[in-house]
Amino acid sequence: MSEKKLSCEALLKEAAELIGGDSPRLDADLLLGLVTGWSRTAFRAWPEREVTVAQAARFRDLVERRCEGHPVAHLLGEQEFWSLPLTVNPSTLIPRPDTECLVEAALALKLPVDASVLDLGTGTGAIALALASERPGWRVCASDAVTEAVTLATDNARRLGLPVTVRRSDWFTNLPAGTFDLIISNPPYIAGNDAHLGEGDVRFEPASALVAGDDGLDDIRKITAEAPAWLSPGGWLILEHGYEQGEAVRRLFTGAGLTSVETRQDYGRRDRFTLGRKHHAER
Ligand code: GLN
Repeated sequence: MSEKKLSCEALLKEAAELIGGDSPRLDADLLLGLVTGWSRTAFRAWPEREVTVAQAARFRDLVERRCEGHPVAHLLGEQEFWSLPLTVNPSTLIPRPDTECLVEAALALKLPVDASVLDLGTGTGAIALALASERPGWRVCASDAVTEAVTLATDNARRLGLPVTVRRSDWFTNLPAGTFDLIISNPPYIAGNDAHLGEGDVRFEPASALVAGDDGLDDIRKITAEAPAWLSPGGWLILEHGYEQGEAVRRLFTGAGLTSVETRQDYGRRDRFTLGRKHHAER
C-alpha cells in the first residue's frame, strides 16, 4: 500500500465512492472521525494528514459494514438529538431529526413550571431528555416496554446528568398513579406490509419500535384511547405519526374526547404529529 493511500483525503474519497446513497461523504467523515478522533473540519483543512495502517484498516472495516447497510448511528454508537449526544444501540429506534418538531411544539405549550410530563416508548430517551434539558422544573418520566431500552434511556439520562425517571411499562400498564400535564410519544406507526421496511436504516431497527399492525395505527389507537384517563384537566397529548395518517389520528383524538386537535408538519413539510387537549374540568 502506498503512503498516499493513507492520507485522510484518499481514504475518504475511496470510502465515499463505495458507500454511495444520500450522504456518502458525511458518512465517511463520521466514520474516519470515530477512528482518528479528528474533526470534519480537520479533514478539510488538512486533507494530506496521514493515518496509521491500523487506523486505515479499522476505517475500511467500518466502511464495509456501512456498505452492508448498517446505520452510521449504530457504527458510531451515538446519535445527536436536540444537540444532546445520545448513546444508541439496535434495541430501539435511532432518533430522527423530525421528532425534534414534537419537542419544539411541547416547549411552546403554556405548561406549569413544575409540569408533570410522560414520554411513552422513549427508546433512547430522546424526547424526555430534550424536554428535561430545556425545562429543569418539569418532572419528566419516560417509559418503554423493552428492557434494553429502559437501560439505554437510564444510562443516557445519567451520562447527561438530566433528571428523567425511566420505567418499564407497556404503554400505560405499569405507571404510578397520577396524571400528566403532557403525554408525548413517538410510537411505532408503520404498517406491517410497508415496503419501506425493506430499505435503509429501518432494516436494522427493531420491529417493536416501528411496526404497528396492518394500518400502522394499532399503538396510536391504544395510546389515544387511554391517554385521557392519564391527563390532567387541560393536559396535552402529542403523538408522532406517518405523513398519511393525520386525518385518521385526528379522528382518534376527537373520538377520545380531546379538543383543540391539530396536525402539524415536519421539516420536510409533511404531516408528522398531532396534538390535542383534555378539556378543563367544569367547576
Ligand atoms: N419515522 C420513522 C421512519 O419512517 C418511523 C418512526 C416510527 O415508527 N416511530 O423511518
